[in-house]
Amino acid sequence: MNISKYNHYIEQGESCIIFNAYTVSFLITNKRDINKFLLMGNFEELEKEQPQLFYDLCKKGMLIPDFFDEKATYISDVMDRKFSGKTYHMIINMTMDCNLRCWYCYENHIDNSVIGEDTISSIIKHIKLKYDKAPFELLTLSFFGGEPLLYKEKILHILSLINPIASIKGFKITINFTTNSTLLTKDFVDAIKGYHSTFQITLDGCRNIHNTIRKYKDKKAIGSYDRILESLSLIKEHLSDYELVLRINVSPQTSVGLQSMVSDIEPFLDPQRATIAVHKVWQVNEKKIDDCIINNFVKECQTRGFVCTYLDLKYNFAVVMPTI
Ligand code: SF4
Repeated sequence: MNISKYNHYIEQGESCIIFNAYTVSFLITNKRDINKFLLMGNFEELEKEQPQLFYDLCKKGMLIPDFFDEKATYISDVMDRKFSGKTYHMIINMTMDCNLRCWYCYENHIDNSVIGEDTISSIIKHIKLKYDKAPFELLTLSFFGGEPLLYKEKILHILSLINPIASIKGFKITINFTTNSTLLTKDFVDAIKGYHSTFQITLDGCRNIHNTIRKYKDKKAIGSYDRILESLSLIKEHLSDYELVLRINVSPQTSVGLQSMVSDIEPFLDPQRATIAVHKVWQVNEKKIDDCIINNFVKECQTRGFVCTYLDLKYNFAVVMPTI
């Protein structure tokens, strides 16, 4: 047997989370067992003393047979996915500008920057060429920024140019928005009703803390928290074919008061369509975040019927009870 190259180990107290990036699965077990058996290569002993753990590690591709060429199989899978021809995914960066000024923003904030007509023409040409060379069944368009909804009219313009091509060629379109959502309007929601749409919208903790972090560029404008809740409500009330990820950014600052958010957000989210995903702000030291607060928040959301994840470890969950 061999240990998968794609295993990642995250230690949490006496436990260890193993995440396998190839099978996208994870498993939580006792840190001692991982150190004593898996990492030392004592696989026979592991099978004898911890048969369930051995079985789970094999099943999840964390422990693989000697004959299995994991790397070659992975590359072949990726190539199959890439050239399967079912879906073509385009990310369209509408602007480098944003109406907010979050401290951790990666963007350059180029005022009034916007995708040009020449780029839009190139996108349309590209889609036609791509389809003619390798026809696909579904075109996924992800609108990204900065804040893509600064340019809602342009988004609708792009869709109006692609629609006739989709009708002629016979592919479907889904649309995706990574947005702060503060500029979402009922008119825009009505205009995208005919598409399957997905949204990623972020809150940074409870109202008071969020409003100190996700401030408007216009310093006179009040905090964005309630405006984002309004947008969640617009989506829930007026769209029927959508999925939404409400991302909750956590840092030592935002984890305080996290619990109070649950009652705020619950009325605006449909548990059948919305997932809550807790993420650490990438610039902060995760050791400074109180895991207890996060775990309580995750549990409370789950108790209210939501799928709620932390650390993105959401697939193929298995807990192997530690043997002491
Ligand atoms: S909403 Fe997004 S793009 Fe806008 S400032 Fe915040 S992180 Fe940057």
